[in-house]
Amino acid sequence: MKERPVIGRSGTFSWLDFIYPPRCAFCGEVLEPGSASHYGNNWDFAACDISAGYMQTGMSRVCTDCRGKIRVLGDFSRLGMDTFSTLHCDGMAAVFAYQGLVRHAMSRLKFHGKASVGLTFAAFLAARLARTRDLPPLDSFHGVIPIPMHRRKEARRGFNQAEMISGEFCRLTGLAHMPKILKKNRDNAKQHRSSGIVRQDNISGTFTACDPARISGHTLLLIDDVITTGSTLDEAAKVLKQAGAAFVFGAAAAAGRGELVNAAESNRNPYGHGK
Ligand SMILES: [Zn+2]
Repeated sequence: MKERPVIGRSGTFSWLDFIYPPRCAFCGEVLEPGSASHYGNNWDFAACDISAGYMQTGMSRVCTDCRGKIRVLGDFSRLGMDTFSTLHCDGMAAVFAYQGLVRHAMSRLKFHGKASVGLTFAAFLAARLARTRDLPPLDSFHGVIPIPMHRRKEARRGFNQAEMISGEFCRLTGLAHMPKILKKNRDNAKQHRSSGIVRQDNISGTFTACDPARISGHTLLLIDDVITTGSTLDEAAKVLKQAGAAFVFGAAAAAGRGELVNAAESNRNPYGHGK
């Protein structure tokens, strides 16, 4: 059967595609119509139908060239969770190493608000979480909460990239999106440059949980764009648990620690459940 050309996000070929042709989420090149069935040599999603469905969505926005270049991370449980701060978070997972094309794609999302990049990351994240051992099954989550941005920063930027990913993630998976539960209290802009130890000290008190009744006793999934040390997700998990959440897991499109990236590069079969 002949494949349909690469299509709009609604699943139909819309007039918008003629004016704004779909572009590769990673490199930004206009996508050639073609098959999204070739996943490159480092993907192993085919064993699970649910995961493969999300993969198809993600891959439909990636050019053939990038498909062969992007590398997925293995399960964190195999990479050594002790590299992350996980005092309160019950588990963390990420799809990509935060480098190269993935870094480039993340800037397109963060600084240009490319919704198609948010959708692509969300689809890969859903595929990842449908096949991971780090987190419970997707259908056990009562709600999905993006890591909030300070309201002034969000007003300046016009959007929160973590919320763009979590919103698309919920649209794909059918899970409840709860973007108003966490509030960020201050604008600590230089977070990414601080060391893990410094961040632990200055991150306390960063978040407030609103509307505890909605999360009491629940299993929640926090979504961020990038995990650096894990301390942001951990602090958010702490606050949610203090507000009554039973379990809190964290997930991100990418993780950016050097040792993790190195470990991921030597792990070519990250989704090989039961092998
Ligand atoms: Zn590309």
